[in-house]
Amino acid sequence: MQLCESDNTTMEAERRRSLRPIWALTVVVTAGAVALLPPVARAGVTVPGAARLPWWVLAGGFALAETFPLHLRFRGEAHSFSLNEIVLVLGLFATTPLRLLAAQLAGSAVALVFVRRQGALKIAFNLAQWAIGTEIAIVVFHAIAMPSGTLSTRNWLAALVAAAAASVVQYVAIAIAITLAEGHFSGRENLKSLVWGLLSTVVNTMLGLVVVIVCSESIAATVLLVGPIAVVLVAYRAYVSEHSKSEGLQFLYRASELLGGARDLEAGLLALLDFARETFHAEIAEVVLRGDSGESIGYRTCSGPGERRFRLEPCAVDEVAAVLALAGEAARAGEVPVGAVLVGEEGKILAHAHNFPISLNDPTAHAEILALRQAAEILGNYRLPGLTLYVTMEPCLMCTGALIYARIKRLVFGAPDMKAGACVSLYRIPEDPRLNHRLEVTGGVGESECRELMQKFFRERRAKM
Ligand SMILES: [Zn+2]
Repeated sequence: MQLCESDNTTMEAERRRSLRPIWALTVVVTAGAVALLPPVARAGVTVPGAARLPWWVLAGGFALAETFPLHLRFRGEAHSFSLNEIVLVLGLFATTPLRLLAAQLAGSAVALVFVRRQGALKIAFNLAQWAIGTEIAIVVFHAIAMPSGTLSTRNWLAALVAAAAASVVQYVAIAIAITLAEGHFSGRENLKSLVWGLLSTVVNTMLGLVVVIVCSESIAATVLLVGPIAVVLVAYRAYVSEHSKSEGLQFLYRASELLGGARDLEAGLLALLDFARETFHAEIAEVVLRGDSGESIGYRTCSGPGERRFRLEPCAVDEVAAVLALAGEAARAGEVPVGAVLVGEEGKILAHAHNFPISLNDPTAHAEILALRQAAEILGNYRLPGLTLYVTMEPCLMCTGALIYARIKRLVFGAPDMKAGACVSLYRIPEDPRLNHRLEVTGGVGESECRELMQKFFRERRAKM
């Protein structure tokens, strides 16, 4: 049990460590945003003729835009974008730079914290990249715009260049964050999302400019825009839902065609898996068939990764259930209930056995030893590198020694054995640096069920005596 707990702590520590570079990036982006504050505060040009809006109206707009992001599908790929550029463009004309920045941060923060319920890191990173994007937009806009009236072409252009500049800065920050999180950089993917981002920026900026112009004529007239924009959004959502329905139907149709046209079930399953892999761009697709009586050994058909294929091979549906079932068989045969399963690197069961020393009059007939003997015979090798042994109880001295001699890669056991366990309880053989083979050990997997089975067996045996 302790081993498991320490495993979890290690995983948690590793996860935290892997997030450190993204926190560092967030700090750098925030520092950039703070450094840009003085030029933003100085960019005080106002565009005469533009309607003035209070900052909280804009904050509401930003909150709405972030609450309903759009997920656009194009040629099988998903692109998500939000309508916050419309509000940004409106803000460039309708308020002072610092008020626009405050509205952006307050509105987006409300949406991220209360509606989308993002984690601390995502909120911090998103606010930092939006802040720097909005500041860049403000500086660029005021460098190009002329205080010569809302409708001038130069001011339209200034808004377009400003929104595009903000978009590029934000995409760079996001691309760096994704590269840090995934550990690799995909130039093609990043370029594609940048182009998509810029396209949606241009469309949103155009919409934003229409809102600015209508607003400047009369604020009441903006009500006229609500209808057309709502219709476009509803039509768009309906299109997305129809599109995914028709994709689902096409998949079902092709799948039944493949299964119907195949020579036999195995070939049909394999063809179906190949098709599923292709459709979902998946590395690997597999189907496990199992009996409905809770059998722990199933039959696996698998396609991928690469050219790898196999059909209806026995596999452990659930290794813990498999060893527990074997231990139950041992108990029914009057043996101490211990079950063991040896699994290959691809998850295929190579051998399974339960304790047999009493019936065979053989002190070495422990489940682990019997499983090792079967696997060695099948593979024609006295060494079994790369295999994993699952067993209900922590192995004894003899079995731990045999696992090391067989060069077993990994041991997974259920309950520790305080009286005879040689892996973590009585001895810690796998950790001994004087031995030339390291056995990876994970304990406590299915511990309570394994222990219960053992206690029940001894309780019943005592009752019979
Ligand atoms: Zn043993």
